[in-house]
Amino acid sequence: MENLETIWKEAEAHLEDSLPDAKKQWIKRISFGGEKDGTMILTLSSQFYKATTEKNCRTEIENMVSEIAGRDIPVEFAVDSSKKPQKQTAQKSERKSAPEPVSKNTTLNKQYSFDNFISGDNSSFAFNACKVIAQNPGTSFNPCLIYGGVGLGKTHLLESIGNYIDEHNPKMKIIYVTAESFTNEFIDSLLSKEKISSFKSKYRNVDVLLIDDIHFLQKKDSTQEELFHTFNELYDSHKQIVLTCDRPITELTDITDRLKTRFRKGLNVDLQPPAYETRMAIAMQKCREKGYQIDQKVLEYICQSINTNVRDLEGALTTLSSFASLVGKPVTLDIAREQLKNFIVSPAIKNNDITIDMIIQKTAAYFNVKEYDIRGKSRNKNITLARHISIYLASILTSFSLSEIGKSMNGKDHTTIMYSVEKIKSILDVDDSVRQAVNSIKNELIEG
Ligand code: ADP
Ligand code: MG
Repeated sequence: MENLETIWKEAEAHLEDSLPDAKKQWIKRISFGGEKDGTMILTLSSQFYKATTEKNCRTEIENMVSEIAGRDIPVEFAVDSSKKPQKQTAQKSERKSAPEPVSKNTTLNKQYSFDNFISGDNSSFAFNACKVIAQNPGTSFNPCLIYGGVGLGKTHLLESIGNYIDEHNPKMKIIYVTAESFTNEFIDSLLSKEKISSFKSKYRNVDVLLIDDIHFLQKKDSTQEELFHTFNELYDSHKQIVLTCDRPITELTDITDRLKTRFRKGLNVDLQPPAYETRMAIAMQKCREKGYQIDQKVLEYICQSINTNVRDLEGALTTLSSFASLVGKPVTLDIAREQLKNFIVSPAIKNNDITIDMIIQKTAAYFNVKEYDIRGKSRNKNITLARHISIYLASILTSFSLSEIGKSMNGKDHTTIMYSVEKIKSILDVDDSVRQAVNSIKNELIEG
């Protein structure tokens, strides 16, 4: 049996990778405090840190520790004031990396522009609307919401608006922020009066506010409240607001009606998956941009096979180009098929025909376990593997977000879902029986 300290080290690393910044700061303050009758003891330097860590991260910690151990491990928190010095270092480095009050437009990623966005029938309305906004910020289409599935260019367009304005109106203050960072910053600001007022003034004194992935705000009531006031203030003073979301506003749940109404004002535009010809144009553009040399036939194969997500298309190009430079040979169609076998499930991937229920049903049948157990909490090795595989398949075969997958797995949190996906990805290449299980269930689902 693995010792609890090793398990904690691994859990700590995973939690630091996967939790949002606001929660990560508590993980950094934890030390391993030993074990008592099979219970893992985690210590913090003060009662305050202990209480806050328990309140904020207890579930995530317990889930991660048990996930890694493959069995339920009780966790207890204790205070050990001798641990202070180490924690002061952590605080110091946090302070250093905390976001500075934005005075200039440093939040934008310069790699995204209208010039390197390929517009097709699927995206021309959104593309043209974003250009008009960038040319006349605050005057037309305010607010604007761009919505669409994962990897279809929402962030690309949002950042392009920011970069265009930054170039043509350098005096304008622009903030690009993901809804997740906005939430984390807001939580962090609650620690002091000065912080909250600097948070409010940071977001209420911009000319252009670009918020990415607002679906993240579901269930975050206080952040929604704060955004509502920020929104009103900016809107009333004719400042430009652009938002992105992975679904139409009407399909968001747990967002207050008054905020939904604000989001729906102005213009809502959607991004659809690109048609084959547009995918080819995007692939060729990415190859030009990154200097990849990939044969036309191989590009055609990739663009025929990956049809719903431009990010995956780019990932496939990067994989093949790295392979070609490692072996020093051009990529043939056979090599492409072999290299992309985990990437390209079939031309029918991510359609709406495959549901999470179907995935769980087939996985349960394959492993001869109960569907109920896959959704549940059992730590039985076989059931845990079936659960990881179901979650992994849901992430590659459906368009549901990790949080949505979590919801249909009896309300598991985003971190647990991400852990399962990463776990299967990391063993797929080295564990034949897991690969066989994944492929067999996958093929059955696609053919069925
Ligand atoms: P989303 O935010 O919708 O999940 P992104 O904007 O991050 O998607 O896009 C994923 C990747 O695909 C990015 O690297 C982006 O540059 C690229 N991409 C998406 N659509 C296009 C397009 N029409 N033209 C060029 N690149 C695109
Ligand atoms: Mg995005």
